Amino acid sequence: MVLGILKRRRRRQIAARPFPGAWEQVLRTEFPRYGKLTSDDQEELRNLIKIFLAEKQFEGAAGLKITDDMRVVIAAQACMLLLHRETDIYPGLYSIVVYPRDYIVNASQRDPDGVVREMTQIRRGETAARGAVVLTWDAARKGASDIHDCRNVVFHEFAHQLDAQDGSFDGTPILRDRSTYIAWARVLGEEFHALRDRVQKHQPTDLDPYGATNPAEFFAVVTECFFQNPGQLRERHPELYDELRGFYRQDPQTPPSCVGNGLGRRCARLFCAESPLRRQLGFLDSISATNTQGGGIHVIHPGRPWGAQGVQDIQAVGPATSGLRCRG
Ligand SMILES: [Zn+2]
Repeated sequence: MVLGILKRRRRRQIAARPFPGAWEQVLRTEFPRYGKLTSDDQEELRNLIKIFLAEKQFEGAAGLKITDDMRVVIAAQACMLLLHRETDIYPGLYSIVVYPRDYIVNASQRDPDGVVREMTQIRRGETAARGAVVLTWDAARKGASDIHDCRNVVFHEFAHQLDAQDGSFDGTPILRDRSTYIAWARVLGEEFHALRDRVQKHQPTDLDPYGATNPAEFFAVVTECFFQNPGQLRERHPELYDELRGFYRQDPQTPPSCVGNGLGRRCARLFCAESPLRRQLGFLDSISATNTQGGGIHVIHPGRPWGAQGVQDIQAVGPATSGLRCRG
């Protein structure tokens, strides 16, 4: 990535400014994903947010008054898509228009069967061009706080922004090299056509049927699922998950505390954020990973090294452990 010297200098100055305490509080209360990041990733996200908010304009629509809370919640989600990636910060995007809630537009839309229909649509977001994104605050806020469904309007619309950086909305963002383009086209192409087939046959789908509209919508829809419900996507569409993991340089299914602690895939495989164990034992919110050693189930507490002192045999806390089953 080549950035101008002045742009880089300006961004370094912005990143060096302190992150306001009120913004940090907003992240912790409105964006639970933030609390699950490593401290390094939190710092990277905070810096991206500062630059994003310094460079992009927010406009309220239908009488909405934009607040700092809104700006931070939206920026945090937009910048999650940039974490770990050596990329510019949505170049060409200048304005984020925010409606208070769903809005109505007259539009034409091509169905998966190719028929163009004129209709009145209720929308919660759109990307009409690279220069502007339209969102609703209701949906942006819900997407930030509800991290267990496949709906996130900010991820969706900013995936379109990434897609458009090469000049076309076609479901293929700028990728690393030729072999990556080939793999991307094969995997996402097969998945898109499989979804379209099911939609055309009126069969149930685990991905949002809206993704069958065209490859651009498919990429936006699976981006939502990748970050919002990674376990389901990895389990049901492992090749698709791997392509997205390679592009986004993140593995949302793997708890950050597992990365680099020596457990590797074993730790990732055994961790299960939605396991019966986690649901039954409230204190497990403080637990970062599970593992089996010596026939017992153990828990690693965040911040402690993997070893005798960092591991606690949780069989001692009750029969809930017998319900532990992790997917994937
Ligand atoms: Zn879309």
